[in-house]
Amino acid sequence: MAVSCGRYIDALWCNDQRSNVWVWLRGSGWRKLDDRNDDASTNLLAIASAAKAKGWAVSVHEETRGSTPYITEIYDFSNGAVGPTESISFSVSECIYGWTAAYDQRGTQITVRIRLDFDAGIDATTQANLRNTWRSGIENKWSGRFGCCTNPGCIGRCVLNFRVEWVNSNEHHRVRVRVGPARSNMTTWDTMDTGDVASHEFGHMLGHPDEYSDSNCPSRSPVNTGTVMADNTEVVERLVRPFCDRHGVAVYTV
Ligand SMILES: [Zn+2]
Repeated sequence: MAVSCGRYIDALWCNDQRSNVWVWLRGSGWRKLDDRNDDASTNLLAIASAAKAKGWAVSVHEETRGSTPYITEIYDFSNGAVGPTESISFSVSECIYGWTAAYDQRGTQITVRIRLDFDAGIDATTQANLRNTWRSGIENKWSGRFGCCTNPGCIGRCVLNFRVEWVNSNEHHRVRVRVGPARSNMTTWDTMDTGDVASHEFGHMLGHPDEYSDSNCPSRSPVNTGTVMADNTEVVERLVRPFCDRHGVAVYTV
């Protein structure tokens, strides 16, 4: 598991056993503080107690050993990687194409609300399956690969996470879904689209142009990059840099 940011510690627990200290991590539940030596749990407890008492938002590094989730590091920086939710929206123009990118960003959490309008004849089971396929395809491809440093030297770190919310109103993007196979774009998907295709269209929603060669756009640059915006495959650092730039901090690779 990786670093999560903007976390709160609501309770502390220990008993008379050595290095047996647990904290309640809001949104996750009880987490054991690293127990591999007494100093580790004592040091972590000192920061956890302060965080609880003062209501600090902390960054937490978690690891699972056996079936027990442990907290192995706590950062107590208050920094630009947490903060209010910003609603981002801007026009993108590339070659002959133009659209509006839109999403919410809070710290290193990026959320895109998408309304899917299914064509008549696409049954509820198919719709549910497609929602699952597309959301997990998008979130797995974009999330957890890169993070933002939160202070000089990259001592504090926050992993970038991308989330899809399927909504019926207040959407960032509205997508028609038709029966496939067909050619998809940001606002028209089809029932044959894979999670990889959805991840590419999601990249447009974040503001990224296509990176494959297109006879309509002979001077496109960059092109044939081998990324999710070229062939639906990889998310690379360049594609997530805007989300750390917004906080004025560097990107790191997880
Ligand atoms: Zn595209």
